[in-house]
Amino acid sequence: MIDLRSDTVTRPSPGMRRAIAEAEVGDDVFGDDPTVNRLEAVVAERLGKQAALFVPSGTQSNLCALMAHCGRGDEYIAGESAHTYRYEAGGGAVLGSIQPQPVRMFDDGLPDPDHIAAVIKPDDSHFARTKLLCLENTKDGMVQSIERMKLAVDVGHRHGLALHLDGARMWNAIVALGVSADDFVAPFDTVSMCLSKGLGTPVGSVLSGSSELIAEARRVRKMLGGGLRQAGMLAAAGLYALDHNIDRLADDHARAEALAAGLGAIPEITVTSLATNMVFIDIEGASPELQNRLEDLGVLARVSSSPARLATHLDISDDDVEATIEAFGRALSVS
Ligand SMILES: *Cc1c(COP(=O)(O)O)cnc(C)c1O
Repeated sequence: MIDLRSDTVTRPSPGMRRAIAEAEVGDDVFGDDPTVNRLEAVVAERLGKQAALFVPSGTQSNLCALMAHCGRGDEYIAGESAHTYRYEAGGGAVLGSIQPQPVRMFDDGLPDPDHIAAVIKPDDSHFARTKLLCLENTKDGMVQSIERMKLAVDVGHRHGLALHLDGARMWNAIVALGVSADDFVAPFDTVSMCLSKGLGTPVGSVLSGSSELIAEARRVRKMLGGGLRQAGMLAAAGLYALDHNIDRLADDHARAEALAAGLGAIPEITVTSLATNMVFIDIEGASPELQNRLEDLGVLARVSSSPARLATHLDISDDDVEATIEAFGRALSVS
């Protein structure tokens, strides 16, 4: 099957599986898994941060960051459709007693700096204490440049807020912009990145930041049940991904472009957004039946309603892009 539902559907490659099989391991809760320690050191070094923490998921990574920055009755600001606000089951509020303050976002996913400034609360017993500003890059595949992010970052800094970057797909942005990773994340006190999306590992995210914040995040990770034992098996996949799967993200971006061009030429389809590895389309005739017809033609895509999101990734080849365009044409010509 050609699976375009997400970039999380990748299977570990033979090289990655070898790295997993050969990983040296220990008990990471005791701090003695050498492969986890190496992954954390490599990420910290690449991002110009003091320390890093391997965690099972991006959601847990963001929550560890929220709870490292904020205590009970504090507040974090995030875009109204940011993952940290909308797609993490309210974890900051439920588990951290941290009040979320959503703000308007621009089309590229940047939280509106004026709205940020307007919701930051003064030191007054009526209000929660505003502590943290979260950005997300990429957002639905869209990239905000370093200069763009600075518009929001500056407001946060002016008001003494801590800064967190939800960089689940930040390597897509870094590759698309052609900037250095440490420049990209320099303004942020903590940075979360996923290994299990475009980088193609089965499991894992890494949170990085100062030694102090990461020590606090490590405590939170244990509380959340994210302390893993012989996690070097998973960290080895991460190290492999950092060595082999970053530069090639440019191929995913090129394939998304080819996919958008091909699908856009089909009369029933309008491409509404093309950015890095994500293509969003409006389909005249989007329906569960269309989704089933595509599946019968070997293509997995969520097209039961519009807009539909298609993601390219490690397991999508140029031939798969061609086959997908043809399958959409055939599936739509039946309806
Ligand atoms: C996927 C994603 C997450 C969460 O990662 P999981 O590993 O699925 O928990 C967080 N933020 C963004 C922007 C994401 O795309």
